Amino acid sequence: MSGRFAPTPSGRMHLGNAYAMLAAWLSAHARGEDVRLRIEDIDVPRIMPGADEWIRDDLTWLGLDWSGDVVRQSQRTALYDEVFATLHDAGLLYPCFCSRAEIRAASAPQEGDRFIVYPGTCRRLHDGHPDEAAARVRAGERHAWRLAVPPAGAQDGRILFDDRVYGAQDYDLGAALGDVVLRRSDGLYAYQFVVTLDDLLMDIDDIVRGRDLLRSTALQIWLRQRLIDCGVGGRAWQPAQTPDYAHLPLLDNAAGVRLAKRVRSLDLGHLRAQGVRPEAVVGYCAWALGIIEQPEAIDAREALACFDWRHVRAVRGRDFKVPGDVGARLLGM
Ligand code: GLU
Repeated sequence: MSGRFAPTPSGRMHLGNAYAMLAAWLSAHARGEDVRLRIEDIDVPRIMPGADEWIRDDLTWLGLDWSGDVVRQSQRTALYDEVFATLHDAGLLYPCFCSRAEIRAASAPQEGDRFIVYPGTCRRLHDGHPDEAAARVRAGERHAWRLAVPPAGAQDGRILFDDRVYGAQDYDLGAALGDVVLRRSDGLYAYQFVVTLDDLLMDIDDIVRGRDLLRSTALQIWLRQRLIDCGVGGRAWQPAQTPDYAHLPLLDNAAGVRLAKRVRSLDLGHLRAQGVRPEAVVGYCAWALGIIEQPEAIDAREALACFDWRHVRAVRGRDFKVPGDVGARLLGM
């Protein structure tokens, strides 16, 4: 069993990515596990050439090591095809012909994190007129494939889990997530499908990531169980056993906007070129995680000696604001 780094190689890692990777590394090592590296390069249009190498180089520079071979999602399509067919044969998927605009127009007002719950148009088509839906697929009409989750209010769609930072979670899948896309209309497999499958097949039992994925965890727990029911992977697991999850407060810029790879100023390439030391980045991130009381240069091993989820729980009340002059502060550390 292991923890994991699961970066998307869409650009250079920024301070927020370093912070999440440090937390994943500390969590796994604190429980005596190592970390696997999975490059999530399945979303081809978002991938930046060279970013995969940068990520490995930046992780090494930070002193965050991983074990085993690097897994690249782009090389696992045959496996994904096979499992996708299994889910399809189990009756868990249906084709969706809706455009984004149609979905938006038919949706209830969006919530804060802009997660749109699919209004179910094509599920009704599939349930009521399966022959028509099948004929439209055969005729080559553009379509995505959605996962049919239990409807809002259904008892088997209620997912409870305990997050190590945010505590007890209780989601109604149908109301909070709805029927998510597992295969997009451009043919690419979607994040929810590949991340759930890969975490299962790689025997990942320690998942650490940003709190923006809290509600996705509910879906991933449900989908994971469907995969196991279909006989996919999971032999090392007890029935109903799920990974341990920890979601982290996000790192925002001074204006309160989440750090993005598009904004170069806080990326590790820029910071390294200015002469910032890895211990400064690790120490700053450890401080943002609440692990140490003052931002001071420390290495990952030293941070491990202080690590306890209780510290992160204590700072979970608000996201962390990175000041605009952080580069200068890091240089001085
Ligand atoms: N590749 C995803 C990301 O970079 C990983 C999310 C996850 O940890 O599940 O956001």
